[in-house]
Amino acid sequence: MSDDPRRRVPRTDAVLADPQVADALARHDRATVKATVTAAQQQAREGTISPDEVVAATLAALPTRASSLTPVLNATGVVVHTNLGRAPLSPNAIQAVTDAAGYVDVEMDLTSGVRSRRGAATLDALRAAVPEAGDALVVNNGAAALVLATTALAAGREVIVSRGEMVEIGDGFRLPDLIASTGARLREVGTTNRTHLRDYAEAVTDETGCILKVHPSNFWLGGFTSDVSLTQLRKAGLRVPVVMDLGSGLLAADRALPDEPDAASALRDGADLVTASGDKLLGGPQAGIVLGDADLIHRLRRHPLARAVRVDKLTLAALEATLAGPGTPVTDALHARADDLLPRTRRLAETLGREVVAVDGRVGGGGGPGVPLPGWAVEIPVATVPRLRRPEGEGVAVVARVDDGRGLVDLRCVPPASDDDLARALRAALAAPTAADTKPDA
Ligand SMILES: *Cc1c(COP(=O)(O)O)cnc(C)c1O
Repeated sequence: MSDDPRRRVPRTDAVLADPQVADALARHDRATVKATVTAAQQQAREGTISPDEVVAATLAALPTRASSLTPVLNATGVVVHTNLGRAPLSPNAIQAVTDAAGYVDVEMDLTSGVRSRRGAATLDALRAAVPEAGDALVVNNGAAALVLATTALAAGREVIVSRGEMVEIGDGFRLPDLIASTGARLREVGTTNRTHLRDYAEAVTDETGCILKVHPSNFWLGGFTSDVSLTQLRKAGLRVPVVMDLGSGLLAADRALPDEPDAASALRDGADLVTASGDKLLGGPQAGIVLGDADLIHRLRRHPLARAVRVDKLTLAALEATLAGPGTPVTDALHARADDLLPRTRRLAETLGREVVAVDGRVGGGGGPGVPLPGWAVEIPVATVPRLRRPEGEGVAVVARVDDGRGLVDLRCVPPASDDDLARALRAALAAPTAADTKPDA
């Protein structure tokens, strides 16, 4: 009688009949599951695993999520982290996305059964949030809002921009190139550090499509500088539309960010249109928001390009829910006080036998360059940081920060409900031997 383990490798239909594998069949394509079973059987035949482990190996090899995007805990202290998907959605917004995922009445009035205005409730919510705006429009992202505004108002004509506001938004994308792509001509005025009202006044001609003001959200200028405010432009009565690119997406002033412009103030001060992102300080989904003069918004909405940058139903749903409140994870993280972060940070440090250090969090790609957000972090070895990102086994992925030769775990952007998961992940990563540990102590 032979006890060759290769003979005991379970048959495919037996593996597929296992309750957990059957469960996985509901979530994965049948061919994927079968190929995974075949691979596990092969391992058993080769003796790398025992025949009893075929089911477990199949389950372990199947992707645990339907998409390859891996959820992470953001322990960087950077609130709007572009590489980590910017704003995490609020529970309400997540629910709204789920509700909107199937067939929904995004463009139908269920009472009459006829077509209705797409996303009307979201636009109403924006107008309610910014009463200074005559109308609102939502497009795919902030850059699309800016391109649509300059195209609709100035294609074939001139857009006047101060040289102090010629920004690169990130990843090599530059404002002058974006504007050039619309077929509008850029008319630069002033100098890098100083632009005066007369610079604008002298540049306005019959060829002017609009004046564009851009909030330099990722840098700040100091020293011998001057720029022209919206109020000054309004008082000058230049008779051309003024578009303000806010970037950050603050709808109303926020005391935590005194220098950050907001949509309501910009419209009050004289901007005819403002454009902003949905997934920065607003804390919602990726979107571009345009607010302001109803006639100008009408021109944007009717422009053919508007159809190409149209926003989907999931975004409309998430944005409406974000605006309905209460609060967002971004506002919570932004306003988290050092005093409130300290007890959580101490608890984590004590369970790990580590030190608490004072650190400054950052607003991030969303704005407030140079605005420190005072808080605390647990200091860890730099060598542990990559291990936290790629945990072994079930643990959650954690992105910590490296600063000045130290690994830092900042709880500002970690939901308190995830503190235990974070502690487990840190314990596992700290316990694993690192190259540094094997070196003799200096
Ligand atoms: C972020 C930003 C943009 C681009 O917005 P996206 O939503 O990323 O497309 C444009 N202008 C300014 C000033 C910004 O800060």
